[in-house]
Amino acid sequence: MSLTVGVLSIQGDVQENMLSSKSAIDELGLDVDVVDVRTPEDISQLDGLIIPGGESTTIGQLSLVNGSLKILKEKIQSGMPVLGICAGMIMLSNTANDKIIGKTDQPLLDILDIKLERNSFGRQKESFESDISMDSINIPKFHGVFIRAPSVSDVGSDVEVLSKFNERIVAVKKGNVIGTAFHPELTEDTALHKYFINLVNKSKN
Ligand code: GLN
Repeated sequence: MSLTVGVLSIQGDVQENMLSSKSAIDELGLDVDVVDVRTPEDISQLDGLIIPGGESTTIGQLSLVNGSLKILKEKIQSGMPVLGICAGMIMLSNTANDKIIGKTDQPLLDILDIKLERNSFGRQKESFESDISMDSINIPKFHGVFIRAPSVSDVGSDVEVLSKFNERIVAVKKGNVIGTAFHPELTEDTALHKYFINLVNKSKN
């Protein structure tokens, strides 16, 4: 059976995630289509979804306006695997405050019981790269690209911490829902995309 993985295509690193997903699928030798996703109709066809990094306020507002926020939430709650990257992880959270501005009242999916600090490591000019590890999902070394990245300041008891950098939580997982503060699609390493595609495959078999 062929599977469909989508990349939410409202704003942000859409093409980069489509390319990383296709490479991961080729390496795994699985039969998975990668599609762009904009509307509630697109969302209903999916077996898995990547919410890319970009700007969470824009992604949130536009998906609220085009009616996809509600259906996204329902689909993820019904078990569809999702990988939220940077702004995408912010979208998955239940509370997001900007490090400088504080409360932003932006639309969120409220799927993961995590509290986030947006722009936690600083603004664009403080963006950086560093190796991190995600031992519990068998990715001991991964090159983390952090761009205006958030960190997770608080996790609910059922949320697993996958990775920390400088004592700050930068990757989390709860069941089929994964969030990372860094951008795997901006590296050549497909390990995290492969892990996610395998999760989608397992959820359907
Ligand atoms: N700082 C951005 C936000 O709050 C996220 C940055 C990113 O996705 N690279 O949405």
